[in-house]
Amino acid sequence: MVKKYSLLSIIGIIFVISFIFLTSSPRSLAIPNMQESPSPTSQPLETKTQPNVYYLTETNNVVQTNDKPEYDVFTNQERRERNFPTALTVIEPYLGDKIIYLTFDDGPDPENTPLILTILKENNVKATFFVVGTEVSKYPEIVQQIFTAGHAIGNHTYNHVYRQLYQSSTTYINQLQHNDEIIKGIINVRPRISRAPGGTAGHFTTEYWKALKVQGYIEVGWNISSGDASSAKADTILKNIVNQTNNNTFLWSHAILLMHDGKGHSETVKALPSIIQFYKEQGFEFRVINATTPPAW
Ligand SMILES: [Zn+2]
Repeated sequence: MVKKYSLLSIIGIIFVISFIFLTSSPRSLAIPNMQESPSPTSQPLETKTQPNVYYLTETNNVVQTNDKPEYDVFTNQERRERNFPTALTVIEPYLGDKIIYLTFDDGPDPENTPLILTILKENNVKATFFVVGTEVSKYPEIVQQIFTAGHAIGNHTYNHVYRQLYQSSTTYINQLQHNDEIIKGIINVRPRISRAPGGTAGHFTTEYWKALKVQGYIEVGWNISSGDASSAKADTILKNIVNQTNNNTFLWSHAILLMHDGKGHSETVKALPSIIQFYKEQGFEFRVINATTPPAW
């Protein structure tokens, strides 16, 4: 009997050890999928610091003089579940003497966006990035870098496909909320600013404007176009910007410049240092888009 029991316990121990080994070894051998991670960032130390941004909580109150990027700690769905307002408080627009808002659409892009972030950092200026959901899913690390560096992130819809977006205000809002959820999954908060692909003119009906207001999105246009959407070269892009800025001095209280950091816009990256230099030389103040930014027109 004694021998039989000790034999059974030895078998038992072997069984337990093999069980532990078999269940734990795949985990310890698991290697993170490196291919899905974009190349190392140019700002590795910043990811641990708290970004200088403004957070909207239950009430949606925005501070009148706030010049920071604004993010909501809730999604619209979470607001509805908790009976919190979705629409934002209305505030006075900030009109300055010479204010420039640099904006970049269609990213994040693994080549252009990190280069732009480096240029902005070198020049100590902040900008606003209107990101597309499909690209956000592909490059979450870049979205995190934009956020951590204290730039503003705006919603440029989930897939940027006009025939879907401009079918109805419902499909449009659904795309914004889909993108919001992806962004929130990365940075834990969501943007309140949005920009319609191709602009609102000829696309938005009154239904769209009403829906945006109810959902608390601030639609952001532009009043200076870099003309970088075509195959323009860096010097042409710079010339476009300088000419429009000089010819529209009435817009200097809130010059909102449209550029692109999406795939294929390396000429914009090339032109950016000169663009920043031009505005600095003219004495402009660089701000990020938030609820205090006046409408483009
Ligand atoms: Zn776009």
